[in-house]
Amino acid sequence: MKVIKHDWTREEILEIYNKPLMELLYEAATIHREFHDPNQVQVSTLLSIKTGGCPEDCGYCPQAARYHTNIEGNDLMSVQQVKAQALRAKASGSSRVCMGAAWRNVKDGEEFDQVLEMVRTINKLDMEVCCTLGMITENQAKRLAEAGLYAYNHNLDTSEDYYKDVISTRAFKDRLDTIENVRKTNVTVCSGGIIGMGEKLEDRAGMLVALASLNPQPESVPINALVAVEGTPMEEIEPVSIWEMIRMVATTRIIMPQTQVRLSAGRTGMSREGQAMCFFAGANSIFAGDKLLTTPNPDVNEDMEMFKTLGLQPMAPFVKKAQPETVEAAHSVLQPMGEKPKWTRPGHTIERNEEAKQKAKAAQ
Ligand code: SF4
Repeated sequence: MKVIKHDWTREEILEIYNKPLMELLYEAATIHREFHDPNQVQVSTLLSIKTGGCPEDCGYCPQAARYHTNIEGNDLMSVQQVKAQALRAKASGSSRVCMGAAWRNVKDGEEFDQVLEMVRTINKLDMEVCCTLGMITENQAKRLAEAGLYAYNHNLDTSEDYYKDVISTRAFKDRLDTIENVRKTNVTVCSGGIIGMGEKLEDRAGMLVALASLNPQPESVPINALVAVEGTPMEEIEPVSIWEMIRMVATTRIIMPQTQVRLSAGRTGMSREGQAMCFFAGANSIFAGDKLLTTPNPDVNEDMEMFKTLGLQPMAPFVKKAQPETVEAAHSVLQPMGEKPKWTRPGHTIERNEEAKQKAKAAQ
């Protein structure tokens, strides 16, 4: 079996990315078969449990409060609402529910307690539970683990170099710190990024260097294509071509053979043939449901039809790792510590983010 390499360089990764396409696909598909069943695809449902009003300035995100987008914000959903959606997701073939809240970081208190209850509830439905809640401390990661969390998502988004052209309200290192906190528990790590934000190929390679150098590498790596939303600083960026997506998926598969490569945002812009090539290149996970937090996603029935055409099957839950135990709130041994994750304010401004903010102010 292939040894997992953690010291990839940008040059080595670019060499892979730029190979003749047929060579690249063959190599990626071969590695994919060595580590995974190529006919099994893990299906996740992404639920936006708290939408909009985020204080961060991520240039791609319609949920940042400072931009003027048509997103309808909502407060934290109830446990019952989440349970109902999880049951629907399970009935339509999802093995994982990923709950996203538009927060900079988790704050101990009622709302976090409610999220912990959601985690317990979904784990008891025998589904994998993932959360994406922003930055978390070690204690918060441990409390999520105790509730039965299976995975925590925290994307690196892009390379460290390009990060400062996308987000000014926190630094790349803050992302790594949260991932490190998650790694102190038995919760698996889901971390990837977005292509098509105006970055260079070197930045795509740089992001993959950062992900591959984590030891262990993330159990799941989402590859998103930017969905340019009106009102965000990136509203005018043209979509990436399917070929770039296929190359990115194949390269990710080659350098992180064990990970689940997750075909994420941007699937509505891809043909079935394009998606089939991504699966051939090593993608083995998708998000189902007609919305990805706030951006459109193919309908579940369309996905199931595509699976039928391609002979793919939705993966059962807990194939890669055993189901975690859930400790009830009354029996928890962990107390909230009231601490906040430390984060850096890099102290620079990003011109296009500022322009979008001014435009939003003018529109008020
Ligand atoms: S990506 Fe997350 S952290 Fe950034 S603005 Fe959107 S919700 Fe906030």
